[in-house]
Amino acid sequence: MSVLQTLQERSSNICELCTSNSELKQYTLPPSLNENVDNSLLVCGNCLSQIEEATDMDTNHWRCLNDSMWSEFVAVQIMAWRMLQRLRNEGWPKDLLDMMYLDDEALALARATGEHEDESSKIIHRDVNGVILEAGDSVVLIKDLKVKGSSIVAKQGTAVRNIRLDHENAEYIEGKVDSQQVVIITKFVKKL
Ligand SMILES: [Zn+2]
Repeated sequence: MSVLQTLQERSSNICELCTSNSELKQYTLPPSLNENVDNSLLVCGNCLSQIEEATDMDTNHWRCLNDSMWSEFVAVQIMAWRMLQRLRNEGWPKDLLDMMYLDDEALALARATGEHEDESSKIIHRDVNGVILEAGDSVVLIKDLKVKGSSIVAKQGTAVRNIRLDHENAEYIEGKVDSQQVVIITKFVKKL
């Protein structure tokens, strides 16, 4: 029996996430390379297009996870976990996540696509105008800055090339002023 046939049989031919029976397809959890019954589930066209971000998320549709997260099949649990993570800013998905239990192996696979990463908590450095700064960029100082621990004043208009980012703090970058490595506050620079 093929993977698809097994999935059809175990689900009685309904979407394992929302129980719809339209456009059912086999979905293998990325980044799995080999499809098998344990890392695949049967999903409908509506679920699939949202999973693959071909259409916008319909938050109400995913209330179905309230039931499907309790599926006995780990692949279904993992997919439910991933979708709840994407929706967690809605509030209720976070409550469901708190109730979910995945063992270590399942959790590792669930996390493999990064759905749990919180975009807003990533450290992003921005200049005075909100432009994103990246390592290696050049910036110009928009005001005179005292260099900490020295008598140097870095003048407004000084270009600082090849900056480095402080990965702990979005407000700090580093760069060379007068051949001295200094820490600079991002709100006092403009990207060149
Ligand atoms: Zn569905």
